[in-house]
Order: sequence, then structure tokens, then C-alpha cells
Amino acid sequence: MINIEANLNRVRNEIAQAAQVSGRTMADIELVAVTKTHPAEIVREAIGVGQVVFGESKVQEARAKIPLLPSNLRWHFIGHLQKNKIRHALPLFEMIHSVDSLDLAQAIDRIAHEDGLHPRILLEVNVAGEGSKFGFKAPALRAELESLLMLPRLSIEGLMCIPPLAEEAEGSRKYFVELRELRDALEKQFQIKLSQLSMGMTHDYSVAVEEGATLVRVGTAIFGERKQSKPRSGGLQTAD
Ligand SMILES: *Cc1c(COP(=O)(O)O)cnc(C)c1O
Repeated sequence: MINIEANLNRVRNEIAQAAQVSGRTMADIELVAVTKTHPAEIVREAIGVGQVVFGESKVQEARAKIPLLPSNLRWHFIGHLQKNKIRHALPLFEMIHSVDSLDLAQAIDRIAHEDGLHPRILLEVNVAGEGSKFGFKAPALRAELESLLMLPRLSIEGLMCIPPLAEEAEGSRKYFVELRELRDALEKQFQIKLSQLSMGMTHDYSVAVEEGATLVRVGTAIFGERKQSKPRSGGLQTAD
């Protein structure tokens, strides 16, 4: 049996400890509990021990699950967003972590305008430049940020990354540092605020918090292994 309460407490404690390393507290970091593949009953167990922020990576699954649960929950979208799912996604999610191209951002802006919404988004950065992953490579982001900032409906709040799967959590550190440094450079160059850094999953969230994550996306450490063996599908170019 998975003990969700014990798991959540352990993850929260580790976040609090890692936060100290970066001169912060638990209050500076949002734990997004990733519920993809898990049914509503499992989500309810986490709600019962005070969790209110949840992450999903597929619009279809979220559309089925979210209406079964209390309306005070806050849902974050973390998967690759297909353009034909934008209209369904926008009213369900308070933030989209995974805006991975200018094209997608423009489509979200257009639909948000039509539907009278102001979505909060993060820009996904392909930190290792992997061909198999979605996201802006750093030079492309520098080149396209001006166009992104001109999209009037989008509130661009920060950056997100999914580094290559490493043997050890420490293997992710250099990518988290890169994302933070890229954020710092863009803030300076464009005179903007990008206050959110969404980085860190089950195997490396402590390292991510040490390096400045403001949002960590943790599934397995809370809910146990998922049945489908696609642990990193959110970042890979697989069709959903
Ligand atoms: C599934 C997923 C997570 C959570 O992964 P775990 O290793 O189970 O913590 C985080 N981010 C994204 C984008 C995901 O798709």
C-alpha cells in the first residue's frame, strides 16, 4: 500500500531542507503533485492531507478527472499542449508550464482573446538541446522572446525545464543552474520579471530547490510508480 500522507510529508520536509540551502523557506516553493494516470480517488487522499496544487500532462485525462474533484483545487498543465486542445485546457488550468514554441504561444494568445482569458504561462526550455524533447533551445528563446512578450493575453511568469534523465540527481544540477542563469540574463536583457522556475521531479527535486526552483513537479515520490512505463512522457515528443 502506498502511504500518500507519509510520502507527502517526506517530500515537503525535503523541500523545506533544500529551501534553506538557497536561503528560502517552504513558503517560497510550490509543490505541484503530479496525478497523471492516477484516478480521482487517489487525488482525494492527497487533498485529505492538505494538498491543493496538482499537475496533469494530458488534456483529455484532466477533462475527465478535474470535474470529479472539489473546485477549490489548483491545476497546472505540465505536458505538451496540442493546439486543438488549447480551448479545453485554458479554463481548467491556472498555469501552463509547458509552452514550448512561439507558434503554440501565438495560438494560446488568440484563443485566450476569443474566450476572454489571461493565461499564466511558463516557457519550456530544452536545456540540453535534445532532439527528442520539446521546448525552446536557449538561442531560439533569446531570438523569439520579444515576439512572445508582445502577445497581449499571455502572462509570461518564468521558465520550465525537463533535463535529460540522469543516473544521479546531481546530474541535473548543471541544467538547473543553466535555467536559472538563462532566466537572470533574460530578465536583464529584456527588463522583465520571470519569477518562476519550474524544475525538479521525483529524482531531482531537492537539487532543483537548492538551485532556485519555485515550482517542483513531483509524481512518483507521492503516488508511487505509474502503471504505464513512460515516466518522462511529459517532455518527450510522443503523441498524446
Ligand atoms: C510526469 C511528469 C512529472 C512527474 O514525474 P515524477 O518523476 O513521477 O515525479 C514532472 N514533470 C513532467 C513534465 C511530467 O510529465
